[in-house]
Amino acid sequence: MSRQLEITIAGAGLAGSLLASLLADRGHRVRVFERRPDPRRSGFLGGRSINLALSARGLEALEAIGIRDEVMQNAIPMQGRIMHDANSQTSFHPYSANPDEAINSVSRGDLNIRLLDAAASRPNVSLHFQEPVVDVDFASGIAHVQHDHDEDLKHVKSDLIVGADGAYSAVRGAMQSAGGFGFRQQYISHGYKELVIPPQPDGGFALEKNALHIWPRGASMMIALPNADGSFTCTLFWPWEGPGTSFESLEDVEDLVGYFRGIYPDAVDLMPTLEEDYRENPIGHLVMISCERWTCGHSAVLLGDAAHAIVPFFGQGMNAAFQDCIVLDRHLEAADRDVRTAIAAFSAEQKPNGDAISQLSLENFLVMRDKVSSPWFRFRERLAKWLHLVLPRHVQPVYNLVSFSTTPYRDIVEKRARHRRAMQALVTAMLGLGALAIAFLVGTFV
Ligand SMILES: Cc1cc2nc3c(=O)[nH]c(=O)nc-3n(C[C@H](O)[C@H](O)[C@H](O)COP(=O)(O)OP(=O)(O)OC[C@H]3O[C@@H](n4cnc5c(N)ncnc54)[C@H](O)[C@@H]3O)c2cc1C
Repeated sequence: MSRQLEITIAGAGLAGSLLASLLADRGHRVRVFERRPDPRRSGFLGGRSINLALSARGLEALEAIGIRDEVMQNAIPMQGRIMHDANSQTSFHPYSANPDEAINSVSRGDLNIRLLDAAASRPNVSLHFQEPVVDVDFASGIAHVQHDHDEDLKHVKSDLIVGADGAYSAVRGAMQSAGGFGFRQQYISHGYKELVIPPQPDGGFALEKNALHIWPRGASMMIALPNADGSFTCTLFWPWEGPGTSFESLEDVEDLVGYFRGIYPDAVDLMPTLEEDYRENPIGHLVMISCERWTCGHSAVLLGDAAHAIVPFFGQGMNAAFQDCIVLDRHLEAADRDVRTAIAAFSAEQKPNGDAISQLSLENFLVMRDKVSSPWFRFRERLAKWLHLVLPRHVQPVYNLVSFSTTPYRDIVEKRARHRRAMQALVTAMLGLGALAIAFLVGTFV
């Protein structure tokens, strides 16, 4: 019988609570410390996006802890994007040639609560709320935890400490203080703000329900994802400042509704609380985190946003965090619970994947806010989908690989680079042949 490990997880957010169940099912004793109050008692205080797109990687992880079906009962499949142009014309663009492939809109609060219920139902998991990890001593494997706002700290010794405490991770902070830990934090020039399209008076959806709606406007955009109660959560992704549409430029606008009517004409009448929501809801920062490695010492590791916060434009942050959990669990078993070996192998495998999805997510911002409205881009997308239908093993669009497969993100980026090189070679060869043919014709007839 393999050794039972004592494991401490900082953060009972999406990744931390899922990981607790996975590791408990292997027989380990897991203690989870969370900074916030228990959302099952106090209501969800997430402060970040109300709904999330759940796709293949996330579903695989939920399946592994046995809650995929219950989560999917309240999910709304989105089979494609609906684009809303400046003249209120709409067009539907499926994500895949296979109509069964969809991403799923789920409530962040509901999902977090289900994950916590799942963890709490395992007898070898203990959950501690309002008990933040404030520091870690990596040499002795001790996490210092604040208890009930006391000055005195709890000192929790374990075989493995996991930092699943989000983009502003205290565990990562302790790794930086320990020295020799390379780390980069970058804010993009855009922030985000959430607004709402409520259900219709009869409880129905005000827009097509099974789609992700986008109002692409070049440098900025608005998106809307459906919620199970018939509403949509809209998110503005706007530059913080600048002369065009930006949060700063709207500060002086008196007729806010009129301004919105100018850019999102078909949405405004669906948003009766627009002015109130815009003035009251905060603007969130979009941060990217990249760490040189995800481990410190022989027994501490980061995952999820703590290791690789990314911008949300591929809807992959949570899905990637869940995949981290699956991979860490796999390495612990493969290394026969030798923590040092397992976390080194985990970091070596997942760090390049974190970098790859970070790059893909940033690139997809340009696609969503701008390229999707270009006819040439749409033609290429349609061609890729058609080729995928005809040659499914040879042509797989990046979107499909990211959202509908669990292929490591690094492999997707490499595959795309190979594909681009092959296409360039093909185009060069065709141009060369064309030039030869012209030279031949000129030589023959002139
Ligand atoms: C606008 C927006 C839209 C998004 N949309 C999507 C989407 O559609 N699909 C998708 O896959 N991802 C999406 N994401 C990304 C997703 O939200 C994150 O990637 C995901 O929440 C990461 O999970 P996590 O558990 O690593 O971190 P978190 O969910 O942030 O959880 C971290 C937890 O740690 C706790 N904590 C913090 N400090 C401490 C401490 N010192 N001690 C103990 N606990 C602590 C926090 O309270 C929190 O509960 C979106 C993000 C944003 C901002």
